[in-house]
Amino acid sequence: MKLKGRVAIVTGGSRGIGAAICRRFGKEGAKVAVVGNTNMAKAKAVADEIVKAGGMAKAFKADVSKPAQCEKLAKDVAKALGAVDILVNNAGIFLWASVEETTEKLWDDQHDLNLKGAFFMTKAVVPGMKKKRHGKIVNVTSIAGVGGFPNSAAYCATKGGLEIMTKALCLELAKFGINVNSVAPGNIRTDMNAPLRKGDKGYDKRQASLTPSGIGHLEPEDLTGAVVYFASDDARQTHGATLLVDGGWAAW
Ligand code: NAP
Repeated sequence: MKLKGRVAIVTGGSRGIGAAICRRFGKEGAKVAVVGNTNMAKAKAVADEIVKAGGMAKAFKADVSKPAQCEKLAKDVAKALGAVDILVNNAGIFLWASVEETTEKLWDDQHDLNLKGAFFMTKAVVPGMKKKRHGKIVNVTSIAGVGGFPNSAAYCATKGGLEIMTKALCLELAKFGINVNSVAPGNIRTDMNAPLRKGDKGYDKRQASLTPSGIGHLEPEDLTGAVVYFASDDARQTHGATLLVDGGWAAW
């Protein structure tokens, strides 16, 4: 077990990639705060599943785009599970739109969660991590944070911003025993891209043809090993790194 006794917050833990990370953290011995927002029944189901399998987990509700709720979440988790060791900034939204279709709200909603939310969650846990002189912050970015995609300028800006924020935070926090790194997923089969896959039958095939592995969409579980690595002490000398888990997409 790589995370035995560690207290971990995973935002966006109710579904998709975050739920897979929570389940894997549970198996690795972490005490997992499964954070949901609108789908609390799903967050509770993920926490129950971990407990049933012999792990420790509890569901929490927070709108991570709101700094006050980030602060409250960090406090509630520390009270319920103990001082926080690991934060996975995973919650995110992708609102596909052309330049003309991108309203101010669409821009703000993505920035408020994907970028501002990750910063204010980090701010909420850093004092406790500094006190412990131990902390692991893993930002879930995207291949859309290392390369551009059409009809996704706002989303790419959030993920590119999160990539460079990872490096900026690592420069500030490494000396306090806090590691900040990012995992950049490729195309992962989740609710996020279900409308694209459903509305366009050739979508998965086209993504597969653009991916060296020949797999159009990876599974959420394919990402969890990378997140466990950054969350564990195996990564104690790794700061400001990005690990792409993308089937080779970004290697062209
Ligand atoms: P998903 O299946 O759509 O799940 C999104 C998660 O974010 C849900 O748990 C949701 O919680 C949570 N969330 C949404 N708004 C929130 C808010 N305001 N406050 C707190 N939580 C909120 O997404 P996913 O595909 O697993 O994506 C997870 C992360 O991976 C995102 O950052 C995404 O950008 C990134 N990513 C995904 C892909 C992909 O292909 N899927 C590729 C690259 C990067 P509720 O349901 O409880 O509201």
